[in-house]
Amino acid sequence: MRTVVIIGAGFCGAVTAAQLLRKAAEPIEVVLLNRSGLMARGLAYGTRTDEHVLNVPAGRMSAYTDDDESFLRYAQSQDAEVSANSFVSRRVFGDYLEWIVREAVRVAPAGSIYRPMVGDVERIQPLAAGARIHLSNKRVLEADRVVLALGNFAPGDPQVGTESENFYSSPRYVRDPWRADALWVVKPDEPVFLIGTGLTMLDTLLSLRARGHRAPIHALSRRGLLPQPHRELEIRPVYTTGLPKRLPSTPNVRDYLRGLRHELELAQTEDVDWRDIIGGLRGATPLLWQVLSMRERRRFMRHLRTFWDTHRHRCAPALGRLLDAERAENSLRVHAGRVVGYAEHADGVDVIFRPRSKPETQRVSAGYVINCTGPESDTRSCAEPLIAHLREAGLIKPDDLGLGLIVDGEYRLVDRQGYSSPTMYYVGPFLRAQHWEATAVPELRRHVAQLAEVLHRSLAQQPEALVLS
Ligand SMILES: Cc1cc2nc3c(=O)[nH]c(=O)nc-3n(C[C@H](O)[C@H](O)[C@H](O)COP(=O)(O)OP(=O)(O)OC[C@H]3O[C@@H](n4cnc5c(N)ncnc54)[C@H](O)[C@@H]3O)c2cc1C
Repeated sequence: MRTVVIIGAGFCGAVTAAQLLRKAAEPIEVVLLNRSGLMARGLAYGTRTDEHVLNVPAGRMSAYTDDDESFLRYAQSQDAEVSANSFVSRRVFGDYLEWIVREAVRVAPAGSIYRPMVGDVERIQPLAAGARIHLSNKRVLEADRVVLALGNFAPGDPQVGTESENFYSSPRYVRDPWRADALWVVKPDEPVFLIGTGLTMLDTLLSLRARGHRAPIHALSRRGLLPQPHRELEIRPVYTTGLPKRLPSTPNVRDYLRGLRHELELAQTEDVDWRDIIGGLRGATPLLWQVLSMRERRRFMRHLRTFWDTHRHRCAPALGRLLDAERAENSLRVHAGRVVGYAEHADGVDVIFRPRSKPETQRVSAGYVINCTGPESDTRSCAEPLIAHLREAGLIKPDDLGLGLIVDGEYRLVDRQGYSSPTMYYVGPFLRAQHWEATAVPELRRHVAQLAEVLHRSLAQQPEALVLS
C-alpha cells in the first residue's frame, strides 16, 4: 500500500487527506502530521474566540469543488438559522473540517489507513523512491509522497533602527498574536499599540475586547487602511466578470488600474456594487498576475497591494460596524505612518512613528506592542526550521518577491536548480507567488482537489526520475 505523509493539518492538509481517502481507487495510507494536537483546524480555525467569524459567507466555504453546499449543509445542521450569506464562527468551520475527515475515512476503500499524528517535522530526506521524514522527537517516517501544507507562519518583526530592535526581545512585545497564550500578558487597563491595520489587527482587537480589555487601542500601518466590510445580503451576489476581457493586451499595472476605475465608475451609474466587480476579477486574477513582468509585479506590490488587500479580503458586515463604532468612540485610534523606534521605560513603551507625509515623528505610550503585520511568507529568509533546512539543502526555490514557493504545474516543489521533486508537493498560501490569489478557501480548495488528483495518478505509476521543470 502506498503512503502519503501530509505535513500540516490546517485547512489544506486536512482537505488533502480527505480528498485522498474519499477519491482513492485502491487502499491508501494517509498520515496527517501536525506540530500541535489540533488536527484539521490550523491557525485560522483553531480559534476559541466566538467573535472570530469567517470572512467569507457560509455558502462559499465548502471544502470541496464537487460539492458547493457541503459546508452550508453542515452549518445548517448545527444551526437552522444559517443561510448562504451568514458569517459563521471560525470554530464551527474547524468542527466541519474534523467532520469531513471522519466522513472521508468512512468511505475510503477497505483496508485504507488514516493516521493523525502530533509531530514537528524538521527535515525531509529525499530517497531514490520516496522520502524520509525526520521529526523533532527523533522519530523517522517513510513515505512514497510528501505533501507540505505548512500554512501561514508567524509575522516577521517590522524593521526599525538596529538600536530599537532590542525591544523585540522585551516582554512588552508580542511577536505572534496567534499563539494561544499571546495576549495573556496584556493588562486590560493599559493601552496597546498594534502594528498593522488589516484582518490580523481586527482579530487581535476582537480577542482583546473579548478578554475585557478596556484601554484605548492604537493601530498603525503605512496607509492606515482598514479592511472593507462585506454587504448584508439576502441573496447570493452576482459578480460582474467582463473586466478581464477588456484589459490591455500588453499587461501593465497602470492599465489594470485604469480599466478597473473605469469599470467602477460605470458600475456606479448602473447601481452595481463595487464588491461585485472585485469579486468578478477573482477567477481571472492568477492569469492577470502571471502575464505581468517581474517589474510590473513589483510596481503592484509597492503601489497597489494594500488597496487590493483591503478591498478583496473583506470582513463580516458586523465587524465592519464594530470598527466604525470603536473609531467613533475613539477607543480604536488608527494612524497612517511608519514605526521608526521604541523607547521602553519602567511603565511601558513609547512607540515613535513618522506619520505619513509628515517630517516630524510622533510618540504614543502603550503597555504592549503587538505585531499584527500578517503572516510571514518570505521563504528566502524565514526562520521556520523546516523551510530553513529545505532552503539550505537546495530543495526549494523561493520566489523573487518573497511571496512563497515555486512549484510546477503538478504542485511538485521545484528545487534551486529548477528540477521538480518526484516526491515532494506543496499546497497552501505560498502558491501566491505564482497565482497571487491563493489565500482563502474558495481558491485553496481548488488547488487541493487538483493536487489530490495528481497524487492519485502519480501513485498509480512507478516512481519517476527527475524531470526538468
Ligand atoms: C487568522 C486567519 C483567519 C482566516 N480566516 C479565513 C476565512 O474566514 N475564510 C477563508 O477563506 N480564509 C481565511 N483565512 C485564510 C487561510 O489562509 C486559509 O483559509 C487556510 O486556513 C489556510 O490553511 P493551511 O492549511 O494552508 O494553513 P494553516 O491553517 O496555517 O495550517 C498549517 C498547519 O501546519 C502546521 N505546521 C507547519 N509547519 C509544520 C511542521 N514543520 N511540522 C508539523 N506541522 C507543521 C501548523 O502548525 C498548522 O497547524 C484565514 C487566515 C488566517 C491566518
